[in-house]
Amino acid sequence: MLHRLLAYVLSTKTNPVIIPGEAILGIEAMAAGIAAPGRTILNVVTGPYGRNFGRWLERGGAKVVEVRSSWDDVITVDQVAAMMDKHKPDALALVQAEAVTGGTNPIREIAALARESQIITVVDSVSAVGAEPLLMDEWGLDLVAIGAQKALAGPNGVSAIGISERGWEFIASNPHAPRGSILSLLDLQHVHVEAAKGRIPANIPSLEARALIESLQRIEAEGLEAVCRRHRLASASAIAGLQALGLEPWQKRSSNYSPIVTTVRIPPQNARLRLEQPMGIVAPGDGDLRGSLLRINHFGVNAAADSVAEAMTTLAERLEQDPADAIAAVKAVWSCE
Ligand SMILES: *Cc1c(COP(=O)(O)O)cnc(C)c1O
Repeated sequence: MLHRLLAYVLSTKTNPVIIPGEAILGIEAMAAGIAAPGRTILNVVTGPYGRNFGRWLERGGAKVVEVRSSWDDVITVDQVAAMMDKHKPDALALVQAEAVTGGTNPIREIAALARESQIITVVDSVSAVGAEPLLMDEWGLDLVAIGAQKALAGPNGVSAIGISERGWEFIASNPHAPRGSILSLLDLQHVHVEAAKGRIPANIPSLEARALIESLQRIEAEGLEAVCRRHRLASASAIAGLQALGLEPWQKRSSNYSPIVTTVRIPPQNARLRLEQPMGIVAPGDGDLRGSLLRINHFGVNAAADSVAEAMTTLAERLEQDPADAIAAVKAVWSCE
């Protein structure tokens, strides 16, 4: 049941591996499973999750080549293509959407490039799954980490990784891939093969797994496309509301906007928008970005007109403005739903 639902949200025919912990455990396990001395991995860094992934790859002894964007932008296909030509990597790693910066990378095109060159693709799709297209098999992705705590409105205590046949071969052929370790995907594969069909494997926290099944059943009932559309409308309506308030998105280009989080540029010298703590779904920037941007976390149950409208009211109050135009702009985007 759980495997089938996870395969549904990943759009894959393969059997996803259930990770007995929060999504970061699975992401670290992916890095440990693929990294080895003698392997070159091209790592796309458009925010902190990508940067951290590179550190884990280095710890595993891989030669890590970075291709970067500024954090108010995403990577371009040309940048990735140039680095692939130059370094001939064995694998390409990227974060599909960076929740911290509000940017989403052009993964479909990047995956096509990687497929042409037959290199392994490793993707952190935790903040993308459910909110934007994620077609693991069609795009030929090899390792894909997902979690339910963002767009899927589920628990954060178990997560999953989709792994293609090629992905398994890439890990199994790595003598440095952990075995006999909580970071071992190979061990987890074994557990899953052993587990009787339809039962939650004994190593998976069972209450979290039950909560995950329930949340994924709700997603299936609503339909993945409808959930995705709801997130896209949340993003479009947040942008429309910001413009009505005279504010700017943090991301430079509209094609970058992530459907789960809209980031708002804090104008220089604007002390009113410097939040100390979250107010509803409006939150200060994480880490170094505090003071530069605000996040509007319109994901999961908050991918909804009312939540986005409330965020506009919060911002308008901080700016001592009337929120009416911004709320009308938000409602207009949702008016055909
Ligand atoms: C949210 C998220 C994760 C999960 O990490 P937490 O910070 O522990 O919630 C991983 N990767 C990305 C890109 C995320 O947005």
